[in-house]
Amino acid sequence: MLPAEVIRAKRDGRRLSEGAIREFVEGFVEGRVPDYQMAAFCMAVLFRGMNDAETQALTEAMLHSGEVLDLSELPGVKVDKHSTGGVGDKVSLALAPMAAACGVVVPMISGRGLGHTGGTLDKLEAIPGFEVRKSVAEFRRILRETGACLIGQTDSLAPADRRLYALRDVTATVESIPLIASSIMSKKLAEGIDALVLDVKVGSGAFMKSVEDAERLARTLCRIGQGMGKRVVALLTGMDEPLGRAVGNALEVKEAVELLRGSGPEDLSLLTFELCAEMLVLAGRAKDLEEGRGRAREAVKSGRAFEKLLQIARAQGADSSALEDLSRLPKGKGTREVLSPQEGVVLSIEAEALGLAAVALGAGRSRADEAVDHGVGLVVNRKVGERVRPGDSLCTLHFGDRGKETPDEVASRVLAAYAVGEGEPHPRPLLLGRMA
Ligand code: URA
Repeated sequence: MLPAEVIRAKRDGRRLSEGAIREFVEGFVEGRVPDYQMAAFCMAVLFRGMNDAETQALTEAMLHSGEVLDLSELPGVKVDKHSTGGVGDKVSLALAPMAAACGVVVPMISGRGLGHTGGTLDKLEAIPGFEVRKSVAEFRRILRETGACLIGQTDSLAPADRRLYALRDVTATVESIPLIASSIMSKKLAEGIDALVLDVKVGSGAFMKSVEDAERLARTLCRIGQGMGKRVVALLTGMDEPLGRAVGNALEVKEAVELLRGSGPEDLSLLTFELCAEMLVLAGRAKDLEEGRGRAREAVKSGRAFEKLLQIARAQGADSSALEDLSRLPKGKGTREVLSPQEGVVLSIEAEALGLAAVALGAGRSRADEAVDHGVGLVVNRKVGERVRPGDSLCTLHFGDRGKETPDEVASRVLAAYAVGEGEPHPRPLLLGRMA
């Protein structure tokens, strides 16, 4: 089928054969299908969806667009975690060293910021010198030496997803279950894992706004993984407000370090320990979740998890002293407080709007080839359920020179994202469900 025929078939709601999907993806990777045709295809998928067989075929085509690693020479069970994306989600930065400090081998291939959500790679690059582009040989060596390595897709690992991800980010084609599922699973299956823990986010700051959609995504992800012989556990977790308080690359690194040093925010700590417990059980390092949680907490308390982060950072070229002295991380040029005009309780925060506010400050991209400003972002001073008085700071903006909007414009966005009033907020619990 010609590329335009594939696009037309999907646009008209027809089912695509495995061969047509494979050819289309191969054409994209080899340069015969240009970005504009791929963008049109993604939009057609977003509107028309894909059934299980099409989603599986898309995942396999993307997976086989590059090398599929075999890490069987490394002793131990290889387990990774992946989040479907949220605001202030810096879990991976703390979780990879935490799980590695407990004896799990963690090969982690992550993504960049996508839409209103941040990306682990952009956060890691806020650490001076941290290299996320590593050859497969270096990836193996670092894994063997430290137990964890965090990189981006290379030209050899799931290259189709690397390009597609950047294209979807700027063509409003992110929020599609088959596209998200194939994106996540193609890169995860390429990295040589035995098992995977998924954090499927639900709420105003997630791509999936309803529990039903998140459950559908979780089921799709689990089915693809199991179809490829991997053990997969998915947690459904709330993303109605930013996770922790920091949103923006260096600010999030700082908060992840605080967690590893035993003083992280409660919601971030709870979720990270829970995901770590799941990884430990899958790796056979804990007999049940209770024991897993205890081991994860002990790795933090003893300082082993933080030491492991320093070791991984050094192995990936970073100046680890910036993690010991956080004032050496990139910073914005100035700060601006967003003040509450009224008294009351924070009833809700539109997390997506805060994610977009961080993008407007320069922490994320509006064009695929844009650089991010690692020092900018925002810190949420009042979260849902907290009381404020007129003039109290809801949020601190950290701005730089390269923002897409002025600090005042961003402040208006942030203010509009807050609902403050009298009443009882009913936040969803953070841990909403589990699928295995
Ligand atoms: N995370 C990914 O890796 N891909 C998506 O499409 C969304 C979240």
